[in-house]
Amino acid sequence: MENSIKIAVYPGSFDPLTNGHLDIIRRASALFDYLIVGVLNNSAKNPLFTKEERVSMIKKCTDDIKNIDVKMFNGLLVDFVKENNASAIVKGLRAVSDYEYELQMAALNKHIDRNVETVFFMADIQHSFLSSSIVKELARNHGNIRGLVPDKIIDDIMEKMY
Ligand code: ADP
Repeated sequence: MENSIKIAVYPGSFDPLTNGHLDIIRRASALFDYLIVGVLNNSAKNPLFTKEERVSMIKKCTDDIKNIDVKMFNGLLVDFVKENNASAIVKGLRAVSDYEYELQMAALNKHIDRNVETVFFMADIQHSFLSSSIVKELARNHGNIRGLVPDKIIDDIMEKMY
């Protein structure tokens, strides 16, 4: 029996991290031996938070999880997966609307490297409406983001807005 350690990559923009993302991080880190959170450094997406801020917010909220690392990446996800000796990509599915795009991405990544599996986690029902965009929209309009993002980063987010 093969007993190599199973490493997974959880990619995203995390602009900023939400409780939905954190839930996936906790569940995936419990299932895999090691989880790498890959923060996409994609200038085309024009993120509100710098890549350093996004990485630092994730690290702050996951400092109790021992088997994870948070890294930035550019370029093809499959290349980042291979560089890190990972064999799986973790994704969260919130609604049927996520499914079509994610199906396409999973098929593309499989085409690039058939050894890389995409593993989907169903979003917790309480986070099914939650996205980074909604958090930014609320914060920008002085709405209350408590409960939507980890308490530890509420001030970081609000400070960025004003
Ligand atoms: P968003 O879609 O909020 O802009 P990302 O691009 O950073 O966020 O998403 C990264 C990954 O996290 C994707 O697989 C996405 O489906 C998943 N995800 C995003 N929000 C949630 C949520 N509320 N619950 C579960 N998974 C989520």
